Amino acid sequence: NTFEALGLDTRILQALAEEGYTTPTPIQAQSIPIVLEGRDLLGIAQTGTGKTAAFALPILHRLSQTSGRPPRGGCRVLVLSPTRELASQIADSVKTYGRHLGLSVAVIFGGVGFGPQRQALSRGVDILVATPGRLQDLLDQNAGRLDMVTTLVLDEADQMLDKGFLPAIRRLLKTIPKERQTLFFSATMPQEINRLAAEMLKDPARVAV
Ligand code: AMP
Repeated sequence: NTFEALGLDTRILQALAEEGYTTPTPIQAQSIPIVLEGRDLLGIAQTGTGKTAAFALPILHRLSQTSGRPPRGGCRVLVLSPTRELASQIADSVKTYGRHLGLSVAVIFGGVGFGPQRQALSRGVDILVATPGRLQDLLDQNAGRLDMVTTLVLDEADQMLDKGFLPAIRRLLKTIPKERQTLFFSATMPQEINRLAAEMLKDPARVAV
């Protein structure tokens, strides 16, 4: 039960060693092989279980193995988060784990000026972490597009429901290619979230910790 055995890129392993991570947590050990295969995932897990690395590490690995460039005005991987705090944490973790890969990461959330976020989006990024409301605002201003997304992560889906973001998410989904990998995380699975998962996921593997 090691990160090496999961087959992650040596540059990712180096970053993990620098962070002092020695052993994958249960959600990581179960999720990483599934995500590396390109399968959809339904992860039932709370914060604190290591779920950020469970999706970030295999996503970084897959990006590191493909030669695509970040699309102008868009992103290759989109991570949707319910709060700006969580979005910032996820972006920081992705930057840390991917620090030797040379990929670009940007974060978009409300309550701050549009300028820098608009600029980051127009250049294009490999991995974009965003809250749904501000991302939709930017798209409505034609500041970006999601038609190049190959991997979509929905984090804390039940919090998205509580914050009233489900309509915004369904609107965003209309502009994201159907042909994609989707990773869906929630601490709880109320009926509304089950329904959203069924709409978003194709033949998902289910991991609960
Ligand atoms: P998360 O559930 O993603 O918010 O992660 C909870 C905390 O655990 C974060 O501070 C991570 O840096 C840390 N963490 C995640 N995975 C590991 C691991 N395999 N070994 C040690 N710490 C970890």
